[in-house]
Amino acid sequence: MPVKRSRKCKYSECGKKNILTPSGLKRWSGYCNRSCKTKRNQNHIPWLKKTIQVEFNALVREKGVCERCGNNFKVMQCSHVWSIGSHSNLRFDILNALCMCGHCHNFWWHLEPMESRDWFAKRFPQRDKYLRAVKETIKPWTVDELHKIREYIKNKDLKKLVRFA
Ligand SMILES: [Zn+2]
Ligand SMILES: [Zn+2]
Repeated sequence: MPVKRSRKCKYSECGKKNILTPSGLKRWSGYCNRSCKTKRNQNHIPWLKKTIQVEFNALVREKGVCERCGNNFKVMQCSHVWSIGSHSNLRFDILNALCMCGHCHNFWWHLEPMESRDWFAKRFPQRDKYLRAVKETIKPWTVDELHKIREYIKNKDLKKLVRFA
């Protein structure tokens, strides 16, 4: 008789314990079913941030034209003015994002930070002023705000994607 093990569902509100055989354990995703997984993710800030970042970046790339050189390629990139690693509060702010071609993004924006930031400030003075004013503002993400942002992205409601309006 194979040894059965019990594993608690990763969705903590569920609380159910699942009895698994060794082969079941290998396939075990951590949840009773898809519904538990969905309920957990919808309330899990790291999952929401990761998922929304993909959707947000795709929306920015949809512009289809490089904001620096004006070329359009099949594959465009989303460039962040202030890096979302150090300025997470601006990760879903449309004023902090630029649609760029791979060349401008990788070989100019990131390789020539002085020149490119100077270009940005001259090209978009209002945005530059706004971003400088709010970039150190601490505003923790909530599940509520993240769900709203997800809606705005889905509806392509760019005006609502300004976080510190
Ligand atoms: Zn469950
Ligand atoms: Zn370009």
